[in-house]
Amino acid sequence: MKRGDEVILDIETIAFEGKSIARLDGVVVFVPGVIPGDTVRAQIRKVKSQYAEAEAVEVTRASDLRVTPRCKYFGVCGGCKWQHVDYGAQLEFKRRHVADVLERIGGIRDVDVKETIGSEQAYFYRNKMEFSFGTRWLSREQYAAEKLSGPLNHRSDDTGLGLHLRGRFDKVLDIDECWLQSPSSNHILNAVRRFAMERCLSTYSTRTHTGYLRNLVIREGKRTGETMVNVVTSEDRPDIMRELSERLAVECPGVTTIVNNVTTRKAQVAIGEYERIYRGQGLITERLGNKIFRISANSFFQPNTLQAERLYETARRMARLGKSDVVFDLYSGTGTIGVFIADEVSEVVGIELVESAVLDARANAQLNGVTNCRFEIGDLMQKLTKDREWLYQRRQPTVVIIDPPRSGMHEKAIPGVLDLRPERIVYISCNPATQARDLKLLCSKGDYRIEEVQPVDMFPHTDHIENVVSLSRVEVVDQRT
Ligand code: SAH
Repeated sequence: MKRGDEVILDIETIAFEGKSIARLDGVVVFVPGVIPGDTVRAQIRKVKSQYAEAEAVEVTRASDLRVTPRCKYFGVCGGCKWQHVDYGAQLEFKRRHVADVLERIGGIRDVDVKETIGSEQAYFYRNKMEFSFGTRWLSREQYAAEKLSGPLNHRSDDTGLGLHLRGRFDKVLDIDECWLQSPSSNHILNAVRRFAMERCLSTYSTRTHTGYLRNLVIREGKRTGETMVNVVTSEDRPDIMRELSERLAVECPGVTTIVNNVTTRKAQVAIGEYERIYRGQGLITERLGNKIFRISANSFFQPNTLQAERLYETARRMARLGKSDVVFDLYSGTGTIGVFIADEVSEVVGIELVESAVLDARANAQLNGVTNCRFEIGDLMQKLTKDREWLYQRRQPTVVIIDPPRSGMHEKAIPGVLDLRPERIVYISCNPATQARDLKLLCSKGDYRIEEVQPVDMFPHTDHIENVVSLSRVEVVDQRT
């Protein structure tokens, strides 16, 4: 096999990151954009010692798992990778991915990975969308429809507002309809773009670091209907923002609050150095179970409301909570898990690194009249090793819930958790690979045994998967009795 060869491949499995796997003469070949069950004519692009990469030229036999993508930008936009795969099959691919990494990275073989809990809504499931402003790039279809000529996809003179092109964080695909948030979110998107174009406002370039408009972040309480528009800009121009607010009041009356985050930083994160409020309270509320949560422009909240409920219910069930339980909620963020379970247990102690998140968590507890949750600020590893005084004033946890960032737990935090000797541990993860690594360490001394593995799909049509694993303490039986 060499570069440039044309080959016929039967696609066998999904490899994640938008690629699938075929085998040719025993060598693994990664092919983007195709799905298991497809037969494709492909050209070899790269040959390495362990694997090869190929580009599909033609799908000669389409997989039975293929469905027609709903979105007209599918394939060009970086937002969704799997809209062309039947949703039931997506859930099964995610389940197999979890089983595969648990085995490969965690050495965990003899566990049954349950069927993935699917998202009730496979479209319009997100409560937050972050759109980018930039030079307008168009899909082939838009280009043809607008009867444009010249180099494809690039109109350097126009305002673009949308999502990034697949694999290109410097290019903005102009989008007037997205299936991820809601029809009213699309309405806001288009109203803001029209305003920007009429007023000839410049858009920020990540290349030159100039231009005014950077991001449009829309947050929507799925259960409350409250809607926030957050415009991220590189300058503070109150005249423009006031005008935009007046415009939205007329064109998008459902918007309950409008804020402007101003940032001069070069990093591509939609977080401001300071914030100005132009309408409403500068926050929205959302409901999870029987609790309400306050969400401000820069606070973290699970992006799929309905499925966040399923996720927390799953964690709650797997933790087998009772009235006498003392729960440690590690990596507690804005306190959503702790507050969600508070009524069912004796006490919750959250530990979280980011101070603003801890302040949000305390406010969320207060808002719900929850009085048995405490939130500690600090780095988890430090709080469980060097800086342990706070622990002496507390009851030992009977249950520990762990929900770390994608990078997983710090290696030295793991013995700290084991020293707490809880009866049960529930580990929620948005990255099964780091979770598998950590589970291996949590089980390495033989004190804990995996009970249940339950994947939950928070992000249909993407290759992300949340996974919940419960562990129980192995009771040591005295061999002599
Ligand atoms: N449980 C929350 C948030 C989970 S996200 C929820 O369900 O909404 C992970 C959280 O871990 C983030 O809030 C992040 O700030 C926090 N975090 C990251 N590193 C940490 C560390 N070393 N110690 C404590 N918290 C940390």
